[in-house]
Amino acid sequence: MAPAVQCRARPALSMNGACMYVHRIEFSIPADQDAETTADFAKSLLGALRMNGQLCGKEWPLFVENRQCVALVLAPEQGSLAPALHGEYVRKVVHQGDMRGISITFTPVAEDCTSAQTCTCHTSSGYVLFTTYLSLESPIRCLDCFLPVPLYRFPVMPSGEYYELICWQSDYQSCDRLQMNCTTLERATTRQLSNKQSSLSKQGIEICRTMENLTRTPFYYYLYRAHARSLKSEQERCCPSCGQSWHLETPLHSLFHFQCEPCRLVSNFGWNLCP
Ligand SMILES: [Zn+2]
Ligand SMILES: [Zn+2]
Repeated sequence: MAPAVQCRARPALSMNGACMYVHRIEFSIPADQDAETTADFAKSLLGALRMNGQLCGKEWPLFVENRQCVALVLAPEQGSLAPALHGEYVRKVVHQGDMRGISITFTPVAEDCTSAQTCTCHTSSGYVLFTTYLSLESPIRCLDCFLPVPLYRFPVMPSGEYYELICWQSDYQSCDRLQMNCTTLERATTRQLSNKQSSLSKQGIEICRTMENLTRTPFYYYLYRAHARSLKSEQERCCPSCGQSWHLETPLHSLFHFQCEPCRLVSNFGWNLCP
């Protein structure tokens, strides 16, 4: 009997600095099942792959073609769907498909020409939790190259997946979208993004602590800064956690003008003062 999962991708991780990759996933529809039942199964596997950091975004077309359900998805790399990267929950869902006679085939299609590249650093001196309302990529950025790092390169979180990180990213993007649109809840969402004591920041800082403990590598949390009163007051702005000076002479990645190493916080210069 043919194995339930066939992967046409090279099994090794793609480390060539490529962009995100479009993949085609085919699910055979067993003779005794209708397309809808297989489509429901396909959605459960896509959800598990997403929570394992193997897929980006969450809106993927799913259609029926030649007795197969086919999904077109976006993944961090060409090798992202290799079975070796499947976590516990993905393997469980694949096994359920196997029991039901659904065979699954992963095929890399092409590089997504609109997305950011992926970090290829062999080791990183640190990471920063960073996303925006437009980003489909992983919310963990390498502190050295500032490119997104696929979540499956990290140990799983206490949930057994990256559920905590993906929920935080979803909440952050919701706040960021509202403050960008400037109509509904602008002040409240800006506070969520900027204030260290907000529920969003507390959740993000907790994730950074957990990830730092798991990886033994510094994990920074980014505090958004919208408005500054004056150039002078902004230059004198102190770390909101320890109260010490944290202004950098040369901004990191042209974005972070503030960094407090002991508190693992970074921030930008008030946008209203930036040219
Ligand atoms: Zn890097
Ligand atoms: Zn500090």
